[in-house]
Amino acid sequence: MTQQTAGIHHITAFVTDPQRNVDFYAGFLGLRLVKKTINFDAPEVYHLYFGNELGSPGTAITFFPWPGARHGQVGGGQVGYTTFVVPPGSLGFWEQRLRKFGMTYFRIERFGETFLQFRDPDGMQLEIVEREEGPNSKWAFGGVPADKAIKGFGGAILYSMNPEKTMHTLEHLMGLTKVAEEGSLIRFRASGDLGNVIDMNAKPIPRGQDGAGTVHHIAWRARDLEDQRHWQEAVSSYGLRPTDIVDRQYFTAVYFRENGGILFEIATDPPGFATDESVEHLGEKLMLPEWYEPHRAQIENGLLPFEVRVLEEDKA
Ligand code: ZN
Repeated sequence: MTQQTAGIHHITAFVTDPQRNVDFYAGFLGLRLVKKTINFDAPEVYHLYFGNELGSPGTAITFFPWPGARHGQVGGGQVGYTTFVVPPGSLGFWEQRLRKFGMTYFRIERFGETFLQFRDPDGMQLEIVEREEGPNSKWAFGGVPADKAIKGFGGAILYSMNPEKTMHTLEHLMGLTKVAEEGSLIRFRASGDLGNVIDMNAKPIPRGQDGAGTVHHIAWRARDLEDQRHWQEAVSSYGLRPTDIVDRQYFTAVYFRENGGILFEIATDPPGFATDESVEHLGEKLMLPEWYEPHRAQIENGLLPFEVRVLEEDKA
């Protein structure tokens, strides 16, 4: 029996300045900063999580802001576009908002849907699409009311160095279903209602370069730890090499690189972000896992302070 992931759990990218990152994802896009912590593998770097009001699986975009980091090149072996989904009828609001902030964007069509494509301040490729499916976000911030707010991920466009192999993995390991073809584009769906639509170009794309403005990995949902163990076995049986299960405090994680070069992760839905602070206060304080708590003062000293703030353009 092939397992089936519900879809994307989170997407993690490299950026440079933390304040600029927060201004864009919280201030401009209106997402909630649901967790302010550090990269558990590099405690001198923040790990910031943004999402809907809870940072539910399928809504969490996460960043490692590293001031002065070199910029990468978006290319094969990466997520090419990260797709956000908004409620039907709100694409006009977002187009106006992009204009109000003087941002360059493109309006494109594929599979009968309209996408607004633009880049974040570090060059990460993003797009917004309207869809019925998926619950609305309950979060409103600055100039973004809850009824226009980003619900979470619509999905992603994957850039593969070996699309045949990546598509085989999507279908036969991750349990996605091929649902449509248009030109050289192929669309897959997962069973959930967010982060569930993956588009692929059937043409190989030359290798990208990791760095600011590029996605480090895409994580897929596992129901719980038991499901994750099954995934780990399934990845091995498929002939890829999964890591051990790693504790990421808000989920546990297994990583593996698929044959098109993209770093995949399997992450558990539980426990989620309200595990070490209350829902009302998510993201307000720097949260550290207990093994870093003795070094809090030193860690805090090394991090640039930032604030979640309403942007000037939204104050008028
Ligand atoms: Zn991850």
